[in-house]
Amino acid sequence: MRRFWFAFVLSLVFSSGQLYGQGADFSKAPPSFPYQINKVVPVDFETLHIDYSFDVATKRATARAELTFTLGSEGGFPIIDLIPVPTSITLNGSQVSTADYPVIDSPTQVTKFRVLKKNLLANSTHKIEISYPLSSVDATFSGTNARAAFFMSDLAASGREFFEKFGPANYEFDQVKATFSVSVTGTTTEHEVFTNGSLVGSGGNTWRIEFPDYFNTSAFFFHMSEKGRFVASRYTFRGMQKEIPVTVYSSSSTLTASGVTSSRNVLTELEATYGAYAHDSVTIYVTPSGGGMEYGGATMTSLSALGHELTHFYFARGVMPSSGNSGWIDESIASWRDDGYPRRTFTPRTPVNLGGFSPYKRNTSNDSYTLGARLISEFDGMFAALGGMKTLLKEFFAEHKLTTIDAQTFKSFLEEKSGRNLNSEFDRYVFGKSVVVIGDIEFAENNQISVIKDRPASSHPRPYTAEELAEFR
Ligand SMILES: [Zn+2]
Repeated sequence: MRRFWFAFVLSLVFSSGQLYGQGADFSKAPPSFPYQINKVVPVDFETLHIDYSFDVATKRATARAELTFTLGSEGGFPIIDLIPVPTSITLNGSQVSTADYPVIDSPTQVTKFRVLKKNLLANSTHKIEISYPLSSVDATFSGTNARAAFFMSDLAASGREFFEKFGPANYEFDQVKATFSVSVTGTTTEHEVFTNGSLVGSGGNTWRIEFPDYFNTSAFFFHMSEKGRFVASRYTFRGMQKEIPVTVYSSSSTLTASGVTSSRNVLTELEATYGAYAHDSVTIYVTPSGGGMEYGGATMTSLSALGHELTHFYFARGVMPSSGNSGWIDESIASWRDDGYPRRTFTPRTPVNLGGFSPYKRNTSNDSYTLGARLISEFDGMFAALGGMKTLLKEFFAEHKLTTIDAQTFKSFLEEKSGRNLNSEFDRYVFGKSVVVIGDIEFAENNQISVIKDRPASSHPRPYTAEELAEFR
């Protein structure tokens, strides 16, 4: 009965795009803005399914995505980003010209994204189907093999280094229920998939992957290649609340063995510090060189960056930043851990902008690793009587895990726990405003965001180079 009713409602919805949009949260979405004679508006993704086909015979990687999405209280042209160039589009079953799905500049040109030039009603739900090829950089073919890896970065200057490289994607504020169907054809060579979704192999080089519904654009991990290329080791980590399946893989048995030992130690350390691990599984791709990058319960990392990246399973992909203006929180915390959790007292210093940029910015400020980590160490001193920041972050994780947060969420949490007003600290050291009162001393400067001289050196894992990504793909 329920299924029938649901199918009936959906058929009504997708015949024209119906009013259906209750429950979506737009509070951390980028704002709408005028465009031509219309308005560009954020949307909420409801469900996303993508069929990926890798044909070794023709050396072509193609995808077909089905996305349902809802507009909020504003109607207009929806933001649905995608870097590949579509070959066909339908909206609610009707063909749309690919020219009506252009890439445009965000206000102040901090990034670009695609918008669908269809004026859609506020609070309406729609289904869009998009076919497109994958880039020959992201999917490669040699002999009887296909390789694909959805590697991402949160540091690219203009953003657009998350899931939009591989499928329709929203800003990080939005969590979406996603599934993939994957097939490799034109070869009899057996292939293998590593992912942070739940993977069901159907045999004959076909798989279905179901991702957790709290995932956002920076969470998905997918890596496929011919079987036997990697040495994988699987073990069960007996966590505080549940048994967690861990997969460690790399190109050599010694590297994999080191990854197993190291991951056991770090997971034990992190549970002791921040509480029970929140994701369903752990996937670790250990690379012989390079830095690291985090996903939802998965990472591609060098051994030296493994501790840092696993910390991001708690802060970054556990408590999740909702935009480039919130990425400083998790990088500050992970870098503070890397530094050995130093404690400092607040002393007046130059203002720094970590999270006061354009709301369309997607990448994280580089100052997070140093001056952000310093701020956490200063809060650790300020809140020593409450047990310091490790205690507070454990509570913050318990309250906000698997949700997207912003600087205001973090500030309100600290203020509530401490009973202190933190306006001056956040204005000066997070939003880069340059008038501040610390204690009873007022520091007044010009109202410009200052340029910091003598930035401290960062020990943050560096992003992988293009050459490394090609080699490790
Ligand atoms: Zn990091």
